[in-house]
Amino acid sequence: MQITKEQIKQDYLKRLTFTFAEGVSEASIDHKYLALGKLIKDYVTEGWAETNRAYTEGKVKQTYYFSMEFLIGKLLDTYLINLGIKDLCSEALAELGIDLDELAAMEPDAGLGNGGLGRLAACFMDSMASLSLPAHGCGIRFKHGLFKQKIVNGYQVEKLDDWLKTDFVWEVKKANRGININFGGNVYMRKVGNKLQPVYENCEVIRAVPYDVPIVGFHTKNVNTLRLWSAEIDESDINLSSLQRGDYLRYLEHKYSVEEISQVLYPDDSSESGRRLRLKQEYFFVSAGIQTIVNRFKKTGEPITELHNYIAIHINDTHPAVAVAELMRILLDQEGLEWDEAWRITVKTLAYTNHTIMAEALEKWPKDMFAKLLPRIYMIVEEINRRFCLEVSKKYYGDWNKINNMAIIQNGNIRMANLAIIGSHSINGVAWLHTEILKHRELKDFYEMYPERFNNKTNGITHRRWLIKANTDLADLLVDTIGDEWVENPLQIKKLMNFIDDKKVLERLGNIKYKRKAEVAAFVKKAYGIEISPDSIYDIQVKRLHAYKRQLLNIFHIMNLYNELKANPSKDIVPRTFFFGAKAAPAYYLAKQIIKLINCVADKVNNDPEINGKIKVVFLQNYGVTLAEKVIPSGDISEQISTASKEASGTGNMKFMMNGAITMATLDGANVEIDQAVGRDNIVVFGLTSEEVMDYYAHGGYNAYETFNNDPRLQLIISQLKNGFFGVGADEFNLILRNLFDTNDEFFVFKDFDSYVKAQEKVDELYKDKERWLKMSLTNIANSGIFSSDNTIKKYADEIWNIKPHKISE
Ligand SMILES: *Cc1c(COP(=O)(O)O)cnc(C)c1O
Repeated sequence: MQITKEQIKQDYLKRLTFTFAEGVSEASIDHKYLALGKLIKDYVTEGWAETNRAYTEGKVKQTYYFSMEFLIGKLLDTYLINLGIKDLCSEALAELGIDLDELAAMEPDAGLGNGGLGRLAACFMDSMASLSLPAHGCGIRFKHGLFKQKIVNGYQVEKLDDWLKTDFVWEVKKANRGININFGGNVYMRKVGNKLQPVYENCEVIRAVPYDVPIVGFHTKNVNTLRLWSAEIDESDINLSSLQRGDYLRYLEHKYSVEEISQVLYPDDSSESGRRLRLKQEYFFVSAGIQTIVNRFKKTGEPITELHNYIAIHINDTHPAVAVAELMRILLDQEGLEWDEAWRITVKTLAYTNHTIMAEALEKWPKDMFAKLLPRIYMIVEEINRRFCLEVSKKYYGDWNKINNMAIIQNGNIRMANLAIIGSHSINGVAWLHTEILKHRELKDFYEMYPERFNNKTNGITHRRWLIKANTDLADLLVDTIGDEWVENPLQIKKLMNFIDDKKVLERLGNIKYKRKAEVAAFVKKAYGIEISPDSIYDIQVKRLHAYKRQLLNIFHIMNLYNELKANPSKDIVPRTFFFGAKAAPAYYLAKQIIKLINCVADKVNNDPEINGKIKVVFLQNYGVTLAEKVIPSGDISEQISTASKEASGTGNMKFMMNGAITMATLDGANVEIDQAVGRDNIVVFGLTSEEVMDYYAHGGYNAYETFNNDPRLQLIISQLKNGFFGVGADEFNLILRNLFDTNDEFFVFKDFDSYVKAQEKVDELYKDKERWLKMSLTNIANSGIFSSDNTIKKYADEIWNIKPHKISE
């Protein structure tokens, strides 16, 4: 955008005066931030209306990306970078005596997601806009995002996330675009002419109100929309006002029950299934989104039978899978299409991404609950299921196993993944290995039936946030060495390989890493009072806490290292700082015990003078996007140690790689592709392969007790969990012990322990050769371009959605 520093200064002062009647010297920091926010929003929204007009008038095909979660983090910097005015703005404010970074720190971190899945949706929004693709997001405006984590006495304590407490300056409420959503009541079919029409009785009508967040691409005028729906009561509703007059308490009750729908994001844990409110949330935003899409489409005057040529709807995991039935409902009941035609259009419009093969994460709803809450939708699901089972039984005559595996309704449950697969023309996994496992194991029957629907789209991350924003010095190094073409085309980062023998470049790379490490050391000192050294290896595992991600394996290695140092204080190791950052779902008690254990080990290790600072352990509280941006650039070692076959892709692994960390990896998820990209000399691989893991699950042959009994190191560690070594009771870690021994070590922590310890020893050796290490680091950065979400999104656009860039001209 064309603007001068003087202009920004003038605009800013005007904003401050008009909004708060204050000058720079009187304004509080909140006001200074809000004034800047409002100003940047003005700049951002300049092309917004024009973009929507251009998409509509150009009659271009558009994508709507439906996701329960958008973990967008802070947006100010992204807007500034993408508008290309960050330096200008920083200078303009500096001349007014204002520090941009200080204002930027005021922005709330929009944590509308749990982890990787929600962050993926956010990276995709950034890439879609940057590629000038006509594509929008659709989700829920949760009043409270994922809880805030505090550690008290080593335990996780959950605090309410109140991110909307101060104005969320970027959003625009579109009160007049509200949509009514029906829940509950009775529905029966009545014959009107020669068609059946549903009649709704006594249903609860809830108003969905959209809040739009502008999504600006990098160096493009296009402004796409992230539409987040909020559940509100319609104050103009006649019934309501009579309630308000006659029965205030019932009115309040009603208001509460409506607003509850968009009140809080469900934390990701397995015990949530069966929660009626969660299902309500899912239908709420899906119905609001699809009704809007169809209404808008009809304004173009094209016949509804052309819908799939203009609209692609993507469902991110199964959370929005009810979209299959909702689109059918609208095409049948509202548009009056026959079943077969409605079905053909639905399947051509929808596409589905599978994010997990963990059985307990595959969504199921008790059919009675579903039918009661969504009576008309249930009828449609039943009919989809009936027709599908018929089709299967025709194709595989008498094969009841297949019907059992693939039916949507089974054992009194509705299986959302099955509904999504049957109702979509494309089903993708999120990394090569994951897609192979889907095709040949988990979804084998579906793959056999619909081979053409299955494809892989390896996840990605936006290099604008995770490199340019998070590690500006590294971005500058790239520009100084290979020019700036990589910013538009991240595959070009590969050119950095030309500098692998350039001592100056390697030295500068080392200095940048050191600078990031020193910043994190200062932060850790300030936040937790722990002294750490930037000269130590920074070994980082930051991600949701889950048994399959194996934070336990990591902490066992640290306990073992500690035990060895105690036995042999002169043991020669490179000093190392181990970082953990992880939230545990509030009802996931095993995960919470692991957090407690990490903190116990940290206390012990950090305060033991005999260790002499050789190892330190830091638990970073409240891991989220903002913290990730701070710590990931400082990593030397990226811990990606999930039990092979369990991590669908991972994206944390890509962020670390792009910032020059070496991956400590099992051959799982996208680690497999990182390994291929950098070569085995530039990654450290250990542990069972996915084949081995799946064979053990299928055929047995692993005995956890045997492994345990043959390894004195493990015996010492386990005894320390029980014998008061950490000054806690014998029961403190009972769930950890049970998870290891009662499940025959389900996630192969014992089994992979030895291999992991050896791999960590290898890291020590490698790090001692400074130049070698820097070359490994450079190789990782140079090959990370393939993981830019721009590449991923291009493939979604070409191969799934069939949409083309539509650039708004300057
Ligand atoms: C990238 C990211 C994740 C995903 O990390 P994985 O290591 O892939 O599980 C989770 N949370 C946040 C805040 C992230 O930025």
